[in-house]
Amino acid sequence: MTDGRQIEIIAWSEADRARLYGAPRTATVAEALRDGAFLLRQPFDRRLADLRVGDVDLVVRMQADISLDEPLYRAVPVPRQAQPPGRQAPAPSAGPPPPAREAVPSFPEQLNDRSAVGLAYAAEIETIASFLRQGLSVLVSCEKLVVEQLGPLIAERSGRQAVVLDTPPEDSDPGASLMMPRSQRQRQLARLRELLRELKDGMFLIVPHADLLAGGPDNQLNSETREVVELLYNHSEHVVLAFADPSIGLPEVLASRFTARIGLAGSPRTVPDPVDSHPRLLGEVLVTRPERELFQGYDPDEFHKHVAGLNPIRVRQAMRYAFHQHRGREKPTGLDLFKTIRGFKAQMSASFEVPNVSFDDIGGYHEVKKEIDDALKIMQGTTAADADEELLQSDLIPRGFIFHGPPGTGKTLFAKAIANRLNATIMVVSGPEVTDKYVGEGERKIRELFAEARRNAPSVIVFDEFDAIAGRRTGRDDGGSRAGNAMVAQLLTELDGFREQVPFLVVGTTNQLTLIDPALLRPSRFRGIRIGEPDRIARRAIIEVHARRFKIDLAPQLIDLMVDATELRSGDDIQSLLRDAYVGQKLHGRPAGDSFVIGELVGRMNRAIKEHRESSL
Ligand code: ADP
Repeated sequence: MTDGRQIEIIAWSEADRARLYGAPRTATVAEALRDGAFLLRQPFDRRLADLRVGDVDLVVRMQADISLDEPLYRAVPVPRQAQPPGRQAPAPSAGPPPPAREAVPSFPEQLNDRSAVGLAYAAEIETIASFLRQGLSVLVSCEKLVVEQLGPLIAERSGRQAVVLDTPPEDSDPGASLMMPRSQRQRQLARLRELLRELKDGMFLIVPHADLLAGGPDNQLNSETREVVELLYNHSEHVVLAFADPSIGLPEVLASRFTARIGLAGSPRTVPDPVDSHPRLLGEVLVTRPERELFQGYDPDEFHKHVAGLNPIRVRQAMRYAFHQHRGREKPTGLDLFKTIRGFKAQMSASFEVPNVSFDDIGGYHEVKKEIDDALKIMQGTTAADADEELLQSDLIPRGFIFHGPPGTGKTLFAKAIANRLNATIMVVSGPEVTDKYVGEGERKIRELFAEARRNAPSVIVFDEFDAIAGRRTGRDDGGSRAGNAMVAQLLTELDGFREQVPFLVVGTTNQLTLIDPALLRPSRFRGIRIGEPDRIARRAIIEVHARRFKIDLAPQLIDLMVDATELRSGDDIQSLLRDAYVGQKLHGRPAGDSFVIGELVGRMNRAIKEHRESSL
């Protein structure tokens, strides 16, 4: 059966295409793809790697047949150097052969950033180098932090001589401004012109910050950007290796200049050993011996879950940070290490935080808790290394939840408890804040939010008032709905593009499920869960949770009365009731657990809600 197992492959030569079609039906997809220079139309789905060629539908097209502005993806996350001699593909067309590689040590004594990047991205580096050897230009989308290390590593693997367009000085840090100062861009342009003119056959040019040089992804090209585009197209005979950060991007016209586009993000779970291709755990090769020895019971298998979204340099920073935090302390454990890494990630990002709510802090809602628990078990199962093949193939695994129900019923609270259970960081975003009246702005924000969430993986993004961004799409094409439609489309792209084994979840909250675009409610996207007003059992539990929190002693009969008096009130109402009782005691010495005091507060709350309802009628 090949249903859903079609792979569209782009081949660079007829020989490669013939070889792929002629691959033995018993070979795995990964093996077949390793045997030539291929790119894919979709991001590589790791689940397909180990299937037999006979069980999938391989559609092979020639690169000349596809439009240049279509993004293409790296074919196999496994390097080729372990292939027997003579089968290596593609063969270098110029320059000396790439240097031989040595086995990767487990738990090395020490590790610098260059080696960390080289180890974690070995497969990608090899693929990029092989394209360069074939005379094809490559655009690499990756975080700025790794560019400085990647350039030389790729050049070394390619065996070709590289010329680097000098990196811009500090003051053009992308955080400070999207573009280089004008004068500086002009100087760089002059330099680019010079280098392109002088570039010899067999050499290639590295442009480390193509995004800054081009001035961002603007549709409206300004004069310098036009000049970059013109220069690079005028010299299309030259091989160029350019880098752009995914959060900045490039104008499409410039990106189209590159035959292959390859994205590097986060860190892989395993890296193949260069000598025998054997998969080696990231938690074994990016962790040093002193680090492993410090944390008792450290589990290298678990490591990836906690650093999946970090690039290798960040992984090393996190490890160094954790090492210094715990050195000299009494017997830190592997669990302490993972907690510290989570804290490190939260510090790295202004918007992600470490949640401190557990399911025990949420009163009542047993069915909801059970439903979430079941769904999480399935999701966690699918991110495990030994995930069930059938389950992975099924479309029943949601990417997230939509909690719907009246305000104040603990929807955000549930999201935080989920993040806590997943050992994840969390970011709460207000839906209306993402919505922007300018067409295109909202999509950009969504792209950025997801990029940050991936970096912080395992992570949870919560969109409060989700309907503001994920509202039903309309057929009309007026200004407002066009912006909304594009945002839903962007959301779908982000959700569907995220099938990697990285724990990441989206939670949307809304008062009304019917406001949400139906496309998002498919089983493979969001699972809708209703969180209504608390029933008697839940109200009692919520009263107890907050009484404990505010250290208020309530007599059982008083709790009974409160449960009766708070019918149709939300958890938030009950919480503020007990908070007011607590504040009254602190400020005015009124005993918080007194039935008269509580009775008065309940009466006041119910009156306030009634008045509010009447005034809004
Ligand atoms: P929503 O997202 O549904 O508007 P929140 O999750 O922000 O509501 O809830 C607001 C506050 O109400 C929470 O911080 C918590 O103090 C309280 N609360 C709501 N539901 C519960 C519950 N089931 N158990 C304990 N506290 C609750």
